[in-house]
Amino acid sequence: MTFKNSIEFALELDKKDPLASYQDKFYFPLQNNGDKYIYLCGNSLGLQSKNTEEFVQQELEDWKSLGVEGHLHAKNPWLPYHEFLSSSYSKIVGAKENEVVAMNTLSVNLHLMMVSFYRPTKVRYKIIIESDAFPSDIYAVESHIKHHGLDPSSSLIKLAPRKGEVVVRTEDILNIINENSDSISLILLGGVNYYTGQVFDMQKITDYAHKYNIMVGFDLAHAAGNIELSLNDWGVDFAVWCSYKYLNSGPGSVAGVFIHEKHHKRKLERFAGWWGHNKESRFKMPDEFMPIETAEGWQLSNPPILSLAAVRASLSIFDEVGMPSLVEKSKQLTSYLVFLLGQLPNDRIKIITPNERGCQISLSVKNGDKNLFNEITKKGVIADWREPDVIRVAPVPLYNSYLDVYNFCKILEETL
Ligand SMILES: *Cc1c(COP(=O)(O)O)cnc(C)c1O
Repeated sequence: MTFKNSIEFALELDKKDPLASYQDKFYFPLQNNGDKYIYLCGNSLGLQSKNTEEFVQQELEDWKSLGVEGHLHAKNPWLPYHEFLSSSYSKIVGAKENEVVAMNTLSVNLHLMMVSFYRPTKVRYKIIIESDAFPSDIYAVESHIKHHGLDPSSSLIKLAPRKGEVVVRTEDILNIINENSDSISLILLGGVNYYTGQVFDMQKITDYAHKYNIMVGFDLAHAAGNIELSLNDWGVDFAVWCSYKYLNSGPGSVAGVFIHEKHHKRKLERFAGWWGHNKESRFKMPDEFMPIETAEGWQLSNPPILSLAAVRASLSIFDEVGMPSLVEKSKQLTSYLVFLLGQLPNDRIKIITPNERGCQISLSVKNGDKNLFNEITKKGVIADWREPDVIRVAPVPLYNSYLDVYNFCKILEETL
């Protein structure tokens, strides 16, 4: 499509947008003058959908009126409550229902997955991660390496872009795998890098690593609900994600994991808890742990229902819209943003996000001058700043409009 830099054009695109009505299903933060903020921060914390209250209220009511009986007799019984999310999660990450489970939070899940999938030996002990991975992931990985009595300086390979480049090339990843094919145990990458917005070629990396029997896991914090995923087809070993970014389920809400079906019956080492125990005998309180032979077998505790209710509210919208339509709009919305940014006469900001991307665009600011970010915030834009020099903006297809993108670029232009 040929884009135009005019408000009329933006409005016309909004008029034709089949998802336009979804903006009204979300609460937007308001400025002092009562206007909505231009919210481009769904990559950090998604907005609250208006149905959340009703879903959470239902569980508060059932708890109020039923007490412990709610486990079986709530309108949505709490005992199997996490199962109500599996179908939606499976569609979002391209998995079978028994390969996903809603549980814990992201960093916790990453630890649990590494207990099963990082089993270093004398020969095979290295982990590959992005050099600019989210800090929590680096901490988690290093702590596992040390936990096994190994040294991160020789056991952790950090993938860095080539000199003068900002994103990692797939060919370089494959080369590193090739060079260390006997000694790598696990590859852990973000599906979408949180800083640059780069989408990794998950399928190619997985295929290549599997030739050498290397385990592959993805942190989908910035991918789930943002790009199309086919974890089952790609044969990915495991994945983890949080639900409060693109999945709009509220701050710190329950996260999710994917464990490929090929691993379900393998009796993998794991940290165990009663919620992962075989459902038939769980309440007989046996001493011996017998895991459920699905992703559910990695659960530890009975889950926080109020939080799951918020996830369920949000996922009901994803079910309604479907990832294909979301991604279709996302591509056009973000392309429009890139088009408008390209029209700005300036040498102070530069797009560092490659064409392999979801909806997020990362702008590096000359000399790491944060004033630019502070100024646009004052003018009604909510985006985020990441040290040392990046503004991240994410027009989210569910609730952002072409007008949002247009207005953001006008504000940026004025400020520049
Ligand atoms: C947001 C994010 C996290 C956050 O972890 P929590 O355990 O949910 O606090 C971790 N890793 C990545 C890549 C993220 O983007």
